[in-house]
Amino acid sequence: MIIEVSGVTKTYNGHVHALRGASLAVEEGELLAIVGPSGSGKSTMLQIIGTLDRPTSGTVRIAGHEVSGLSDRELSALRARYLGFVFQQFHLAPGVSALDNVADGLLYTGVSQRVRRKRAAAALERVGLGHRLDHKPNEMSGGEQQRVAVARAVAGNPPLLLADEPTGNLDSAAGAEVLRILRDLHASGTTIAIITHDTEIAAWCPRQVAVRDGRIVKDTGAAP
Ligand code: ADP
Repeated sequence: MIIEVSGVTKTYNGHVHALRGASLAVEEGELLAIVGPSGSGKSTMLQIIGTLDRPTSGTVRIAGHEVSGLSDRELSALRARYLGFVFQQFHLAPGVSALDNVADGLLYTGVSQRVRRKRAAAALERVGLGHRLDHKPNEMSGGEQQRVAVARAVAGNPPLLLADEPTGNLDSAAGAEVLRILRDLHASGTTIAIITHDTEIAAWCPRQVAVRDGRIVKDTGAAP
């Protein structure tokens, strides 16, 4: 299992119950949609799976590693090795070229800048932006910026990609292009979890997990 979430609760400020006991097991190579109304706990779930936040109770294992005992430093190392993130807001560094936005995501690898840039260029090629390496975010369309963000997320070849409303800020053509890239990544073996409230995107995923009031109320891929 690449993701094993078991009985996870998350309470903010002592009284906001964002998750009320959620369990989810995901095998390597799956493509799943996490759906639910606003405020149901989807982003909290993704933050906890992504080890960006810790649960109030329950356990989380990523690629077999139980995360509760890890220090912040160990968590960063785990994220660097196993996880890529794509957000609705692209979160690119302004004033920095596409190439270096992606290359800087590989700083943790400790390889030289020349090698980082070479890997970044390959990742940008993969998302169809080989001709935009020198462009800065403000010189690119939203769809291109999101493709840079995808390239940054996958440049280190993480087995698991977490995407929070990745097409939420894009027009339908640009959104379709991003989904095509995610589909290709999935086809080449990456496990992908997408938060979406777009029913078409959810239906396009082989597995749907529905969250409501902090609980998983439906999971088409749950083990019997
Ligand atoms: P969704 O992604 O489905 O919209 P969230 O996981 O963002 O839902 O939020 C679930 C609940 O937790 C909401 O009531 C939200 O207001 C609350 N919440 C989320 N993050 C925080 C936070 N950092 N502090 C306090 N409350 C939060």
